[in-house]
Amino acid sequence: MIDSNECSSITFEGKEYDTFTEPPILMKQERAKTSFPTMEVTHFLNGGEKETAKFEAVKRQIEMSPVFDNSDYYDVNGDYKKCRERTMQKVAAIAEIVTDGRDEHEITSYLSAISIVDSQSYTRIGVHFGLFLSGVRSGGTPEQFNYWVEQGAAGLRNFFGCFCMTEMGHGSNVAGLETTATYDENTEEFVINTPSTAATKWWIGGLAHTATHGLVYARLLVKGKDYGVKQFVVPLRDRSNWNLLPGIGIGDIGKKLGRDGIDNGWVQFSNVRIPRLFMLMKYSRVSANGNVDNKAPAQLAYGALIGGRVTMVRDSYTWASRYLTIAIRYAAVRRQFAQGSTVETKLLDYTYHQRRLLPRLAYAYAMNAASRHLQSVYANTTQTLANTNPKNKAAMEAAVGEAKALFALSAGLKAFSTWGTLAMIDECRQACGGHGYSAYNGFIDWTAFAVQVTWEGDNNVLALSTGRALIGRHLEAKAGPVKDDQLGSGDISQPSVLIRGWNLVATKATEQATTQYKKLEKSGLEVDKIWEKLSQLRFKVARISTRNFLVKSFFEEVEKNASPAIKQVLTELATLFALWSIEEEASVFLEFKFITAEDLSQINLLVDEYCGKIREQAIGLTDSFNWSDYFINAPIGNYDGDVYRNYFRKITDRNPRSETHAPYFLSVMQPFFKRTFEDDPDLSSLEEEEREINEE
Ligand SMILES: Cc1cc2nc3c(=O)[nH]c(=O)nc-3n(C[C@H](O)[C@H](O)[C@H](O)COP(=O)(O)OP(=O)(O)OC[C@H]3O[C@@H](n4cnc5c(N)ncnc54)[C@H](O)[C@@H]3O)c2cc1C
Repeated sequence: MIDSNECSSITFEGKEYDTFTEPPILMKQERAKTSFPTMEVTHFLNGGEKETAKFEAVKRQIEMSPVFDNSDYYDVNGDYKKCRERTMQKVAAIAEIVTDGRDEHEITSYLSAISIVDSQSYTRIGVHFGLFLSGVRSGGTPEQFNYWVEQGAAGLRNFFGCFCMTEMGHGSNVAGLETTATYDENTEEFVINTPSTAATKWWIGGLAHTATHGLVYARLLVKGKDYGVKQFVVPLRDRSNWNLLPGIGIGDIGKKLGRDGIDNGWVQFSNVRIPRLFMLMKYSRVSANGNVDNKAPAQLAYGALIGGRVTMVRDSYTWASRYLTIAIRYAAVRRQFAQGSTVETKLLDYTYHQRRLLPRLAYAYAMNAASRHLQSVYANTTQTLANTNPKNKAAMEAAVGEAKALFALSAGLKAFSTWGTLAMIDECRQACGGHGYSAYNGFIDWTAFAVQVTWEGDNNVLALSTGRALIGRHLEAKAGPVKDDQLGSGDISQPSVLIRGWNLVATKATEQATTQYKKLEKSGLEVDKIWEKLSQLRFKVARISTRNFLVKSFFEEVEKNASPAIKQVLTELATLFALWSIEEEASVFLEFKFITAEDLSQINLLVDEYCGKIREQAIGLTDSFNWSDYFINAPIGNYDGDVYRNYFRKITDRNPRSETHAPYFLSVMQPFFKRTFEDDPDLSSLEEEEREINEE
């Protein structure tokens, strides 16, 4: 086996080919170009030096844990039953960490690192903490929350919760769910039923084998009246032996496109009785004698989903950072074609390749900034909601207003960040050529990420609702016309000009939709139909406003938190992101006349120029993500850049060379290849002819 430095250099037609010894040397040279302290950028990304220290500590803990040995990760994933078992072992290990009394921020960091190592255990435990328990906390009274904590929910003590919202027939339209919870005044119980096959709860993570309780979304029916969808905690399994409780039918959804380590399942209910106080009653109440207090807006019941969306914006950054590290490191050492000179060109030196990867590197940094901004809005809003007495009408209205704004912001960011990262992962995969297709180089998890654009709110539906909320707010504000603004002789590479331009097109797009709304309103169209007709504009408003938020957050974060040593490189990166984003949304910038066609040509050149600047710092900027080889888990993306040796060893370690015969050689291959043919060619005449020639 060739696994040494021999045969490393070939000269052919005057050109040198040296694929084996050169890559790690190249990587060192690339790294030496870094003009800024990479750890300072790491602190910037983590929100400070202390945060980095904490994050590094949890990362080390994961890396050292034998349960999280991920050397066979990609092979185990091929076998979904084995994968489920391994995932559960990891869930148990995660549970020990997240329930050992550390603060919430540390838990979030820990889980964020887990999401990179194994997105399946992350999600499998996430349905309990992030959806079930968060749902109980946001929808239940403090007493109810404490009750379920005492039942074991906080420590996962003989308890595992799942989140039963989606049904076969309805997912996005929660108000249309069919499962019923009928109040029985005589026994002070709710009776839960699945009225049809389409009402079967479907896709529920953790349900098939793990969950003891479900947070079930069902229609509240009291004295024949339908009060809409509310949340109920429903026991599913006997906690002494995990047998299903009477009236509960549960099944496994089976193999999926990815994340097979999660036991997604379905459930049907037949006259399942639960005590009255198992309905979450923070915002709606049913008294013992069947009086219903149902004044709070229905959206508050979906609060649990907002936390998930906030997390997904962070995930989008985290995942992007891993795949960009792989693709950029690979591009820094991979050579392909010699352009005139004697040595072949590195992929990263192709301007076209730079354009594929470097604006996306900037995009990842922008998502980091936006995610931290969103995180703080989320923390403040949930605090306000928690502290507001539902009986105080004015305070409640203000809190609901804040919650609606958060809903719109988080929905837009979730949609466009997950879409951005999904596209980015595939671009990075393609940038690694054939080796990007090997499961061992990590891109196989693309399908695991793909679900992020669908679950906890389908991206298209979320984007449309963000657009609607933004247009609605603009209508309510009764704002005057947005003043025109043009780049003119301004310098488009200046942050203040970029921020101004982005802000203008975002406001103009909203104004355009508002004007259209008013026109349709005047024509006498019903409100629902107006919104429907505005769908394309709603989407446009959400798309442009979200990108505006990313651009602004990135520049603001640099202004506020970048030390002098890293300010220049981060400003260049933010500038690249804003310029490239204009290219992507050129039609809108032209439509609202902030730029002219000539300006656009200039912007194209500037994107090239900024890609060139960032190219020199690209390895430093990926090193700043600070993922060790363990987290990267892709030999072509290792820190040392020794791509061929690392990759070759990984493949040969995982696929023993002794197996030169297929296990089915005797049963399938041999009978096939050695079969006899009825029409084997008759060569006798040729043989006769040959004999005659020989005799002559
Ligand atoms: C792996 C996985 C795990 C999941 N885990 C859970 C879980 O634990 N608990 C849970 O409750 N759910 C879970 N879900 C369900 C998930 O949240 C839903 O599938 C998701 O919200 C989308 O809803 P839907 O399937 O009803 O899609 P639909 O709403 O039917 O959407 C289908 C298509 O129609 C489009 N569309 C829908 N409405 C509109 C509209 N008004 N205008 C224009 N276009 C529209 C959508 O954009 C989409 O492209 C999971 C799903 C998956 C795939």
